Amino acid sequence: MADFKLTYATMFNPPEELHTGFDKAVAALKKNLGKEYGMFINGKDVFASEKFDDVSPVNTDWKLAVMQKGDASHAQQAVAAARAAFPKWSRTPWQKRVKLVRKAASLIEERIFDLGAAMSLEVGKNRMEALGDVQETADLMYYSALMMEQNDGFIKEMGKDPLVGYEAHNVSVLRPYGVWLVVSPFNFPFALTGGPTGAALVAGNTVVIKPATDTAWIVRLYVECLRDAGIPDGVVNFVTGPGSTLGQALVDHPDVDGATFTGSYDVGMKMFRAFANRSYVHPVILELGGKNPAIVSRHADLERTAIGIVRSAFGLQGQKCSAASRVLAEEPVYDALVARLKELTEKLVIGDPTERSTYLGPVINANSYKDFKNYCEEISQSGGKFLTGGKVKTGGLFDKGYYCEPTFVTDLPYEHRLWQHEMFVPITTIGKVKSLDEAMTIANSVNYGLTAGFYGSEEEVEWFFDNIEAGVTYANRPQGATTGAWPGFQPFGGWKGSGASGKNGGGYYYVQLYMHEQIRTVIK
Ligand code: NDP
Repeated sequence: MADFKLTYATMFNPPEELHTGFDKAVAALKKNLGKEYGMFINGKDVFASEKFDDVSPVNTDWKLAVMQKGDASHAQQAVAAARAAFPKWSRTPWQKRVKLVRKAASLIEERIFDLGAAMSLEVGKNRMEALGDVQETADLMYYSALMMEQNDGFIKEMGKDPLVGYEAHNVSVLRPYGVWLVVSPFNFPFALTGGPTGAALVAGNTVVIKPATDTAWIVRLYVECLRDAGIPDGVVNFVTGPGSTLGQALVDHPDVDGATFTGSYDVGMKMFRAFANRSYVHPVILELGGKNPAIVSRHADLERTAIGIVRSAFGLQGQKCSAASRVLAEEPVYDALVARLKELTEKLVIGDPTERSTYLGPVINANSYKDFKNYCEEISQSGGKFLTGGKVKTGGLFDKGYYCEPTFVTDLPYEHRLWQHEMFVPITTIGKVKSLDEAMTIANSVNYGLTAGFYGSEEEVEWFFDNIEAGVTYANRPQGATTGAWPGFQPFGGWKGSGASGKNGGGYYYVQLYMHEQIRTVIK
């Protein structure tokens, strides 16, 4: 495995060791399910009076873990612990913080099979997507550490040439804000907890983590990597429980100095507005939804196009913020493309995501399953046609979990609301366009601007990059039309309603978001 680097772009043909390692980990884990896990506050496990069962969407008879249903008092405890730990952590030399974060990232890599197995069972990710999420987390943390190092801890001497008659020593220092809240979604529970947490920590903030309730277990396992790396007590705190109560209590807590929220547009904007009511502006990094287009020119290589679109439409059952949820194809290639999309999609295997051959596992929970059925009903009543799918799967294991068919829809009028709305299930709409200009107008006509893909000639590619309103853009990519970004290669973030900071995670400008500048001038 020495020459192999696991990423979302290389995962389609991995070395055999990845499969054997993963299979062994799943078998071992399945013998040891159902344990109770605490929250983690000030270096100690904390238990609430109420608990909840964390069940697998693969088979709802499988109880994966018993987790704590925390409340506002736990939010209070976690923020207080983070506040108390801040002075010491923020004054710890950045080199030491970088070292500890790197140590945690290396523990994540050591545990990749166990973590990937747990992720697959809890999220329903297929094995390579699950292992990818774990590796991506380590890489995001390494990247923030590297940025601190390459920028000498963001301590920069300014204005070296003395002004005549005025000799001053000027130093710019980026300093942490204080207590940083990280709220993460279910779909990339590891990377979207670990990326922000790693950045916040190397920058010198202390952290309170609130995971999605559906994926509380895997995030607890993430926190254990930080704990085992020797991150001091109180520097990272982890609370579990409903977003509407515990989560809201964290958002409303006056001692929270900054936050990173990754999740839906509605919840993120609500949080942003809540922060706006404070007495001064606080940094809130939002990473929200997407409605990502793949534009196909008459000059496209249709085989690459079809493979890239199918992978991005149905990877993780369409539950990626970067999923290719809209396809806009020029008339001359429309029929051929649609035929190939159908052929490829019909070959996809749906089932237990821990199995080697499975591409699509279940959707995350009963609500998503219901959403899928409702959208399909709405589509058929509105004139849309199912090129593939359109139904949930039944019989055997399918009756135990939340399995939906990968669904391509044609002929849905562009005015229909589902061309605008993020469905977050395996449904992608395909439309015919007369020109690339028409495709671009439709592509940009949504509130979101996360990722976008293009297939066409070299000259068209430049035009696409210039005109598309999105933070992550790809051209002629069979590995994924709109998905599969990797830290340090494709920093990830959105424009418009998809993101607030305008700077992408896993990129040059990210870790700076977790610090404010202080300029220090001393007159000699
Ligand atoms: P949600 O918005 O439903 O939840 C996200 C997180 O917010 C969860 O931890 C949730 O907790 C918490 N939460 C809910 N209500 C509140 C509240 N009032 N105060 C504080 N926290 C709250 O998103 P999903 O988990 O369903 O994730 C899917 C969404 O995430 C999609 O829209 C997707 O596009 C987006 N996403 C964006 C990415 C990006 O980088 N731009 C990447 C990945 C996903 P609980 O689970 O307990 O409700």
